[in-house]
Amino acid sequence: MSIFTKIITGELPSYKVAEDKDFIAFLDINPNAKGHTLVVPKKEENKIFDLSEEAYSKLMRFSYRVAKALEETISCKRIGMSVIGLEVPHVHVHLVPTNVMSDMQFTHKVSLTHDEFISLSKKIASNFK
Ligand code: 5GP
Repeated sequence: MSIFTKIITGELPSYKVAEDKDFIAFLDINPNAKGHTLVVPKKEENKIFDLSEEAYSKLMRFSYRVAKALEETISCKRIGMSVIGLEVPHVHVHLVPTNVMSDMQFTHKVSLTHDEFISLSKKIASNFK
């Protein structure tokens, strides 16, 4: 069982920003930038291109809605999107509020307090439509 499945089942906590029956989105615990969010299908699958075309399209549609909520909440030049999965083998889309190229390079990290994570996740959730 992946660490993200444990978040989905509630075994592990997360700073959730959006959820429906098939997907969940929560803040990355080690963010590249403030608001860095992971969008995750609830059905555990390793690689994104192992998804069916339909499941992939649904993931992108859900990610689009989360990106819109991020744009409403966080001032940035644009929302960067990336899929890697080398650390956690459970499909996830990284959505990163981006101002400079290094925000998308997964080397420079920002730290947030528990209270900052909570307040940020609530703000993003309130802008999710
Ligand atoms: P990737 O698998 O795409 O290389 O990276 C996995 C991402 O998941 C990383 O950005 C890492 O910070 C994040 N991550 C790993 N474990 C957890 C966790 O337990 N909770 C949250 N919210 N994010 C995690």
